Amino acid sequence: MDLGIRGRTALVCAASKGLGKGCATSLAREGVNLVVTARGKEALDRTAEELRATYGVTVIAVPGDIATEEGRRAALAACPAPDILVNNAGGPPPGDFREWDRDAWVKALDANMIAPILMIRAVVDGMIARGFGRIVNVTSGAVKAPIAELGLSNGARTGLTGFVAGLARKTVRHGVTVNNLLPGPFETDRLRSLLEHGARAAGKSYEEMRSARAAANPAGRLGTIAEFGDACAYLCSAQAGFITGQNLLVDGGAYPGTF
Ligand code: NAP
Repeated sequence: MDLGIRGRTALVCAASKGLGKGCATSLAREGVNLVVTARGKEALDRTAEELRATYGVTVIAVPGDIATEEGRRAALAACPAPDILVNNAGGPPPGDFREWDRDAWVKALDANMIAPILMIRAVVDGMIARGFGRIVNVTSGAVKAPIAELGLSNGARTGLTGFVAGLARKTVRHGVTVNNLLPGPFETDRLRSLLEHGARAAGKSYEEMRSARAAANPAGRLGTIAEFGDACAYLCSAQAGFITGQNLLVDGGAYPGTF
């Protein structure tokens, strides 16, 4: 299916690796020109070059921390009027809530709630004026089924989800949709470090933890970043204009509810 977004421009945050890279890759394959961000310049430049060489689209790499004012300013200076915005950032660390002081909470809120809201604020009116926009926020399956040791993530992402639920109904009549993608277990650096943390706590090896996690998923495996990226590209497609305010789980069926 042609997704009808060839020649559009996307700003994909936190996209040098993992799920963000999956989103950037699927959009590039659909002929979307990209501005991609991440803190580490080397990996970001590598990803940008890979996407240019493979798909022949324009890819501008903007190093910076999207959780900071400076990082957002740099990203928006390179891409002030995107047709597509993918909000993403690293997830907060696991732990016990008794260990988290105000600073820990502010850091989690900055990265996983406030940064995406400020990015939306910066671009949504332009999208409305142009009559087309697609905003996708990478959140987590933890929004629907909280993960106890990821309390910082559960809290911050649920705040973003509540905000988006209201906004998404205001923009859609202008051709601008806002949706959230909720990853389950995907084999990325983030999941690897969480599995290492779990393995240490349980006195098991990393490989044992990884196999158990994969086997516990109804699909019997972990997800791939290509699967995640393709779900993102569909939500960004011309065909998805009647889908807004949704929280789409991409988790191999891990969430056990009927809805
Ligand atoms: P990942 O493999 O660690 O990749 C994170 C990417 O984001 C890297 O490119 C990283 O590059 C960049 N990044 C991180 N923090 C950033 C920041 N503040 N500003 C700009 N770029 C930043 O992580 P992932 O697994 O793809 O996860 C992406 C998001 O989905 C995270 O919020 C994670 O918690 C959430 N999630 C993941 C899973 C999973 O199974 N993988 C499940 C549920 C939720 P630099 O480090 O160079 O900045």
